[in-house]
Order: sequence, then C-alpha cells, then structure tokens
Amino acid sequence: GAGLLEVTKQVDSVCPYCGVGCQLTWNVGPNAQGEERIHFVTGRDGPANHGRLCVKGRYGFDYIHNPRRLTTPLIRREGVAKDPADIERLKQGQLKPTDIFRTATWDEAMELAAGGLARLRDEALAAGLRGNDIPLAGFGSAKGSNEEAYLFQKLVRQGFRTNNVDHCTRLCHASSVAALLEGIGSGAVSNPVEDVAHADLIFLIGANPAVNHPVAASWIKNAVDRGARLVICDPRHTALTRRATWHLQFRPDTDVALLNGLLHVIVAEGLVDEAFVAARVNGYEALKASVAEATPERMSEICGIDAQTIRDVARAYATSKGSMILWGMGVSQHVHGTDNARGLIALAMLTGQIGRVGTGLHPLRGQNNVQGASDAGLIPMMLPNYQRVINPTVRQAFERLWATPEPLDATPGLTVVEIMHAASEGRIRGIYVEGENPAMSDPDLSHARRALAGLEHLVVQDIFLTETAMLADVVLPASAHAEKWGSYTNTDRLIQIGRPALDPPELAMQDLWIIERVGRRLGLAWNYWRDEDGGGKRASQAAVARVYEEMRVSMPPLAGVPWSRLVKADAVMTPAASEDDPGAAVVFIDRFPTADGRATVVPTVFRPGAEQIDAEYPFVLTTGRVLEHWHTGAMTRHASMLDAIAPEALVSLHPADALTVGVRDGQAVLMSTRHGAVQARVRVSTEVQPGQVFLPFAFWEAAANKLTGDALDDVAKIPGFKVTAAKLSVIA
Ligand code: SF4
Repeated sequence: GAGLLEVTKQVDSVCPYCGVGCQLTWNVGPNAQGEERIHFVTGRDGPANHGRLCVKGRYGFDYIHNPRRLTTPLIRREGVAKDPADIERLKQGQLKPTDIFRTATWDEAMELAAGGLARLRDEALAAGLRGNDIPLAGFGSAKGSNEEAYLFQKLVRQGFRTNNVDHCTRLCHASSVAALLEGIGSGAVSNPVEDVAHADLIFLIGANPAVNHPVAASWIKNAVDRGARLVICDPRHTALTRRATWHLQFRPDTDVALLNGLLHVIVAEGLVDEAFVAARVNGYEALKASVAEATPERMSEICGIDAQTIRDVARAYATSKGSMILWGMGVSQHVHGTDNARGLIALAMLTGQIGRVGTGLHPLRGQNNVQGASDAGLIPMMLPNYQRVINPTVRQAFERLWATPEPLDATPGLTVVEIMHAASEGRIRGIYVEGENPAMSDPDLSHARRALAGLEHLVVQDIFLTETAMLADVVLPASAHAEKWGSYTNTDRLIQIGRPALDPPELAMQDLWIIERVGRRLGLAWNYWRDEDGGGKRASQAAVARVYEEMRVSMPPLAGVPWSRLVKADAVMTPAASEDDPGAAVVFIDRFPTADGRATVVPTVFRPGAEQIDAEYPFVLTTGRVLEHWHTGAMTRHASMLDAIAPEALVSLHPADALTVGVRDGQAVLMSTRHGAVQARVRVSTEVQPGQVFLPFAFWEAAANKLTGDALDDVAKIPGFKVTAAKLSVIA
C-alpha cells in the first residue's frame, strides 16, 4: 500500500560481499509496522562498479532483518555438553537454541567471555609459557572493517600475548600472498580489475569471476567484446569460457606443469624480455635451467593440454602489447598453491608484462575486505602492513605505538588449520572467533568441529547463531555491515567507506565496541570508544576514526588518506603518499618494493598432490561457490531472495559419469571421500569433465568441507580444497 516502500533515508555505502567493492546506496524507510528497513539497494558510480551490481549486492541485503539475527548475549546452559552433532540437530530444528543457551546481560556475558580468556592467559604466563605455547587464539574476519581487523589482531597480540591470530585469508589467498611477497615484495595487486579494458590479452586462471566477482566479470566481457583475447585455464566450463579464445581444460592439480610448459616456450623461443629481466629480475638463470626440460610435449602428458596450444598461448601472452593475469582460488587452494602463484609471477617477470596499464598480476580477492584485513595485520606472522613479527625493529615500533607494558612476542603464530590441530591436541584451549565460521569453512569439518567442541572456552561474536557459535560457551551479538561505520579495502587496493543505515537490533552491539570491551577486561588501557560516543549500540564515526588513525600511523600506504579524506572522497586508491596524491592504480612501474628494488623468480617442480584418485575414490571433487551464495552462507542463506533462488547444494556430474554411476538428474547421491560423506542431489552437466565433480560449500545440508582434507601447502599452510578424491553412490 501507500508508504510501504516509502524511502525516508538514503545511505551511501559499499557492498558487503565480494572483493570487487561495488558502491551502493541503502534505501531505507519504514515497513508496515513502522520499523526501519532497507527496502532496496541501488548501485552508485563507484570506481569499481560504475553503477553496476550483481544479484548478491542488489538483492542480498535483507539478512540484516532476518528474525534469526542474534539480539541478546547467550551463555551455554550449565551441564549442556558441547556435541558437534548438535549443529545438525539445531539446523534441522530437532533442538532449539534455548535448549543449549540461555540469554544473559552484556555484563554477565563479558565477564564470562573475557574472564575465561584472561584465566587461560594468566595460568599460562604463570607457568612460564610464552608465544605459541599460550593456549589461546583469535580468528578475525575478512568481512569486517579494517578497523575491526586492526583492533582484533592488536587484542590477540597485546591482550592474549601471542601471535596466534589469523583469518580466512589462510583458506583463500595465503599461498598467493606468500609467493607475491617472496617474488615482488608486495601481496597486493599490481593493476585494478578494470585495467582489463586496456589489456590485449587476459589470462584468467583458476577463477570463476562470473560467479564470484560478477561485476569484474562484466568488465572482462566488455574487454572481449572490444577485441581482447581471453585465455581461461580451468578444468571446468564457466559462464566466461564460451567467450575465451583459448580454454585450457587442464587436469586438476597440474597447474605447475602447465605453467612450466608456458615458461619453457617463452625461454626456448626467445620471447623473454631481456632488457626487463636484466634491469629488474633476479633468479632468471636458475629458472631458465629449471624449465629447460619442461617441454610442451612433456608437460602435455601431465596436464593434458596439447603441446601446440601450450606454444600458442605462451607466444600470445609474451608478445601481446599488454597481458594481464587474474587468478583465484583455483590457483591458490592447493597443497602446491605457492608454487602455482610462483609460476604466474615468473610468466609476468620473464616477459615484462607488468608495470604498465593493461598488464600485471591480479589475485582476485574473495571477500569484501580480505585485502584490508591482511593489510591490517590479521596474519600470524605479520604485524600491520606485512611487517614481520620476527623483526625486532618492527616489534619495537609497535610496542611504542601501542604503549605495551610487555614486549610483543617474536614467534610467528599458528595459522587457522594449525590452530585447529593444536586445539584437538589440547595445546589451544580457548578461542575468540569474531565473524568467522570455521565449523563450516575449515577443511576436514568433522575434525574441525570436534576440535572446536573440545575447547575449554569458545567465545563467538557474530550476527547469527552460526555453526561455530553453536559450539560456543558465550555468544556475543554483533552488528551487520549496514549497521556500522568502517573502511574496507577491495581487490584493487581501493579503500572505501561503509556507512550505517540502521542500528543493530535489540541488544546487539557494534563489533569494535565489543572487541574493545574484551580488551579492557583483559587489562588493556584502551580508550577508543568513549562515553561521548554512546553505549556501543549506535555506530560512532569518531570511535572508528580513532582506531583508523592509529592504524594509519603503522601503514605507509595510507599515509595520504586521513579519515577525513576518506569520508569526503568515499574511495581512495592506495598507496597514496600524501593528501593530494590521487593514489596509484598501477604500481611497480619502475621498481618493486623489495630490498634491491628487483623481483625474484622462483623455480618450481611439478609434484603430485596429497589427494590421489584410485579404484575406490575415482572422482576428483572440486569445491567452490555459486553466484547467489557467499562463503559459508551465514549471510546469503539468511537473505530471503538469494536463498529462494538457490536453496540447495547440487553436485555437478558429467553425463557420461551419471550413466556409469546410474544416477539421473535430480536424484540424490551419497558422496564420500577419505574424510567424510554428504548427501546431495545431482545436476547432470557438461560444466565438469568426465571424472570430475563439483560441490558448492555454502550449504550446511551438504557441508562440502566434511569431504575435504587438511593437507597443507608447506609454505603458506593453505589446505588443498580444490582437489579431493571422491566416490559416489546412488541413494535408493
Ligand atoms: Fe557486491 Fe561483488 Fe556483486 Fe559487486 S560484484 S555487487 S561487490 S557481490
């Protein structure tokens, strides 16, 4: 009726979902009951989206009004044991949250949450334990703001007295970042996505942007329409592959062989940019020697791409006026993910395809703020701005900035999966989880869920009772993206401002306020969220700005971006050295941020991965995302329109395999691996090759990570999510 969609307020912000970082407007007004609601979302002319939005950004906003939002602190009822099986019982409605938790006041919940953390810390310190032996860890979030990420890692380092702090970057681009830091001294992208508009050749590997970065995919489509050649290296067909000049459907897990074959051709056919290599690259001779035997014929036997295609693609990449590499989880989520990324870096370095518009290296960031959370130090081995904890000068600088009475710990902390291992062995006894969902996102879920259930003290801060929160001792109700102020850094290194449209519901509080309160109860003399900023429910720009300004002191790329500039401009490209610096869209133009200003190429050798198919497990299972859903589904499964469009996990299976297995489209199968089993219905599709199956991981009903293993890349400690040996059987 009249007024139902009346818009009384328009708030400019950014999309809460993917790393593209589309700018949008929340259109707010009363509903029929007079409650403030976001009615709809419109796209803004932001640098990354120019008005475009995908289905998630446009229709995925109403999770914030979902009746399942957490509205009060919860404490586990006395005598209710933590049982991983309760997750499914709760999800299926056999148990109610009130069977497990009782409501509590903030004071009581904080006392219990912070008190438990303080007790474990103090006992450990009194026993002489230090560093990783402190039995505590923190998981921060790539969905939260830079300020939340910064304050959370500070809390763990200063308050828990350990570097055991990590976040889901470990599960997505840790290997890319490790290879980039080693190779070119910076984990960030060299060129923004939109630069594909200026590229002559786009080399897209292990990424499905039509699903995961849809607005970025639209720029790629536009570039192809304009005449750019598109190389897609992906075992699967995706929405972009029909536009590709070359679609290299290589065998899963053989990236290193394919890339070494390309490098061999570039060296053997004299396509190396000798002047660039002489001026800017170390390690060329060793790389040249290591690919000498990697002929296209030999590599073809491993990766399944014919030798002539390897030659054609190598020539096209090396000789185009501008070639740009974009990659995603298909490269990074392998036990040899670091080697995969090293191969991509070597391609760009040997051919000089970097440092100009329309060239470069772009690891497509998944979450809205995974770039920013990493920059802000939510990484166990690095303080903000990738400064290593092992470096005493770095530690001293932070000890001064933070005025820590105690020295900061010098031992690199444990990573996400290592923390879960330590938890299952009793070496980690308490975890504070802020906005992450390891009970869905970690590999080998049954193991991870048992480890979480075995903790003496689990504190979860979130907006829903996530699978992880179901195993908590204390649950702290937090604020959604559209309820707070904060800065977010997209995949292009563009820092943007998020503004609050609404207050969090009932007793839910601002995340930054919660983190600070936990810190104060751990004895830290913090004073960001002050009396004049209100009680922590309503967003406070001043409190957020205080954290931002402290963070900025430790992060030179933000030197030219004070909070006031950010709020005025809405988006600033970083690095920006001074306030009148527009920021650098293209970096590494004449030097790399390494000690000698040069890049280093690192040779790699193809090794078979941890998961091998055999007669019992004949399929290669790949997990990933679908357009409508986001990661563990905590937000999008609660967004009514998205969940209505894509309510169910489907296993994609090639028609030939469907015949062998004896399954029809829509029929249910049991999929088992060496790690676990799930049931789901089959979608018969030529999107996968024979011998491969695909399952999205956003659905608790068929939690894909029950199937994955936790073997890790030795360098970056990322699990090999992309390849698991699996078998299928029809459910009668
Ligand atoms: Fe949001 Fe990414 Fe979609 Fe843009 S492309 S609207 S940032 S999910």
